[in-house]
Amino acid sequence: MAEFEIPRSHPRYVSLKLRERLVKGFEDGLVVPQGLIAHGRGEAFDYLLGEKTHEFALKAIEAAVAGLIYYKPRSIISVNGNMAALAPDLLVQLSEALEIPLEVNLFYRTEERVRRIEEHLRAYGAKRVLGSQCRRARLPGLESPRGIVCVDGIYSANFVLVGIEDGDRTEALRKAGKVVAAVDLNPFSRTAQMADITIVDELTRALKEALKMAERLLNTPRSELKEILESYDNRKVLASAFKAILDRLTDAANRGVVIEP
Ligand code: ATP
Ligand code: MG
Repeated sequence: MAEFEIPRSHPRYVSLKLRERLVKGFEDGLVVPQGLIAHGRGEAFDYLLGEKTHEFALKAIEAAVAGLIYYKPRSIISVNGNMAALAPDLLVQLSEALEIPLEVNLFYRTEERVRRIEEHLRAYGAKRVLGSQCRRARLPGLESPRGIVCVDGIYSANFVLVGIEDGDRTEALRKAGKVVAAVDLNPFSRTAQMADITIVDELTRALKEALKMAERLLNTPRSELKEILESYDNRKVLASAFKAILDRLTDAANRGVVIEP
């Protein structure tokens, strides 16, 4: 692809940069074409949310990071092609900061793509990555190869963070008895509805906040982590996400404009 620098002053700079990363990920064999479509769906919801991290997302991020730490060493960060293309640096930083492994786990699984994503994450400094070399097991409820996971990773984990994930897979993780936190811009999606902790936010924004949260929560006593998890109410968080969209739409419907000329 011809090199084209997006000027920083472009009003959609951040969004265009993310698209560029996905297209590059597609060209490098990390991302599947279906991943490009999934990204477009996410973008549409990000417009409705005003492309910012809301208070309800911060609440969910806090609970997700608390869970990742609380359930150690049985917690894991599941990584797919879109996640690896969009936020390799942030995923690696979070994995290193929390000392929690990343597991490459793909909907459209090929061993070649698993290897490529693993290498990509290692190139960004990942030290704890599971995927191609691990002992394998199958998650019940998903036909092979969608159900393949690592025995010492997702299979035996009690807490799993997923992002940009399909609803069936999230449901299979829940049915396997795991606590699931999911980053998903669409509060209507099956993943958003199925997860125990739903972070309705864009992946890169959410991971940046998760890193800040990690710094704070790593020094928090276990009893407080437990308290964060026990007092967390995902129905309330999802309701707030719908309300944020509703409020924005109501305002737009009343005034007919969302961008002041
Ligand atoms: P579901 O299977 O959960 O009902 P779906 O079929 O609409 O959802 P999938 O392609 O299976 O969608 O999953 C991708 C999900 O990730 C979508 O809900 C989409 O909105 C969301 N998404 C896409 N890009 C991002 C992103 N950058 N950050 C957060 N969420 C995203
Ligand atoms: Mg789906």
